[in-house]
Amino acid sequence: MLRIGQGIDAHRFAEGRKLVLGGVEIPFEKGLDGHSDADVLLHAIADSLLGAMAKGDIGRHFPDTDQQYKGISSLVLLKTVGEIMAKDGGTLQNIDATIIAQRPKVMPYVQQMTECIAQALNATPKHINIKATTTEKMGFTGREEGIAAMAIALVMFA
Ligand SMILES: [Zn+2]
Repeated sequence: MLRIGQGIDAHRFAEGRKLVLGGVEIPFEKGLDGHSDADVLLHAIADSLLGAMAKGDIGRHFPDTDQQYKGISSLVLLKTVGEIMAKDGGTLQNIDATIIAQRPKVMPYVQQMTECIAQALNATPKHINIKATTTEKMGFTGREEGIAAMAIALVMFA
């Protein structure tokens, strides 16, 4: 049976933080604030996979009150979600995701992000599509207050 899931996430910018998107560190004057590394793209993707499994969201699996997740790489969280999916009999068909950011330009890093995500999920890079858009300076991403991401995943269950 094929099942679909969606995920959406947003994090605000903060000074003195690294910017990590899709598991890739991107040189920029500020990073995203959060309990983990605040990788907004991986959080949206992890939520889309949990959605397809009807297993809640990453907040339920990795509570931000739990000190063991403080500063953790979200690739570790995504890998764990991939393991939950495999245990559940799920095989990833595809992920389609969009990063919503005015700045920085993320397109040069998309290929590397795709490979990182594929590796974490034990999947083929060609099944993972990452897009990036601005909101033409409108709204919180347009004002460069933060970055948002959306993802959809399709998973086949045996
Ligand atoms: Zn998040």
